[in-house]
Amino acid sequence: MLSPNKDIVEDTEENRQICRKYCPNCQNYKRHALDNFQPTELFCARGKSTATNMKIIGCFCPACELFTKSHLRGGFFCVRR
Ligand code: SF4
Ligand code: SF4
Repeated sequence: MLSPNKDIVEDTEENRQICRKYCPNCQNYKRHALDNFQPTELFCARGKSTATNMKIIGCFCPACELFTKSHLRGGFFCVRR
């Protein structure tokens, strides 16, 4: 039997609060007003933004504790995950 994958970020209020320290402050988020599109945060758990034609600029994910804890790679989860 498979054990739960600890590398998967769960969509919890606690994790959303962590994300709010990073995503809303990054250039990509501000430039594309990602708060106007779903999902608005925690892209590593909830999937990429529904915003279109995004350029890839300045991602803060590598500084995020969930990024480290869950062994995430690459960042830019609002664009390509
Ligand atoms: S890794 Fe990125 S998308 Fe995921 S919680 Fe951290 S800042 Fe948000
Ligand atoms: S996933 Fe990365 S690029 Fe996208 S909003 Fe969050 S910090 Fe910015």
